[in-house]
Amino acid sequence: MIVWICTDMEGLAGISTWNQCYAAEDDHPDYLYGRRQLTEDANAAIAGCFDAGATEVRILDGHGRNQNRGFMLDLLDPRAARVWFRSLDPVRWEGLDESVAAVAMIGQHARVNTIRGFLDHTQAAKVICSYRLNGAEQGELGQMALYAGVYGVPLVFLSGDEAACAEARGLFPHVRAVPTKRGLGWEACELYDTTAVRASIRAEIARALGALSSARPWTPNPPITVRAEWSWAGAAEGVAQAPGVRRISARTVAWDLEDPRDVFTWPSSRWSPKPRE
Ligand SMILES: [Zn+2]
Repeated sequence: MIVWICTDMEGLAGISTWNQCYAAEDDHPDYLYGRRQLTEDANAAIAGCFDAGATEVRILDGHGRNQNRGFMLDLLDPRAARVWFRSLDPVRWEGLDESVAAVAMIGQHARVNTIRGFLDHTQAAKVICSYRLNGAEQGELGQMALYAGVYGVPLVFLSGDEAACAEARGLFPHVRAVPTKRGLGWEACELYDTTAVRASIRAEIARALGALSSARPWTPNPPITVRAEWSWAGAAEGVAQAPGVRRISARTVAWDLEDPRDVFTWPSSRWSPKPRE
């Protein structure tokens, strides 16, 4: 049983500020603290996977600012294999294919425009106002479930703030979700005890893998329409240049995905969706 884990930082145990996830200086104490929380939450998840009988755990440092340098490698459980991009245009993740039994997300945040979602956003924080798939607002966990579904792989476990957990359970009732904190505002939260949270992550990811037969991959029929709205027209203009992209309004564009895996790829001169017939 191979488990593929995507990590983020905003929804980690112990994380309560923007700077712990995004400090510009690599050696900023807040950011180093954030990287330690990332590594410790990841270790709890990795341990739970092996408790449940995993033969291999593949782990992606999915927080953009980290540029794949987020894990503290001297502390990260060496049983996990680190993965990264297989290609960029279009985005394909390394090691996520038919060989994988289940996907888990650690440290996830809620989608953009979520009340009491701690640091909620969808891909570009403070820049994207709305992101819809076939008309329904979706966040990064929906995007990942859609991508994995192409290979028949279900999302089975998530840790994050209460709002991210509610989002996951609402979309996929089989998902086991462990809350790490309760959002009180955009950058305000009540943290839960980190030791207790990590014990729960380890136990619950193992339970999720034990119940794998009741999990279902997300496989909506293509084409899937993406509709993205930015906070300013300038951001939409670049995407609107690509063939196959429809300009809905000054700040809003839409396009269709033939291959759901293209959900992580923004139209550009390097990759563009097929125009609608
Ligand atoms: Zn992030």
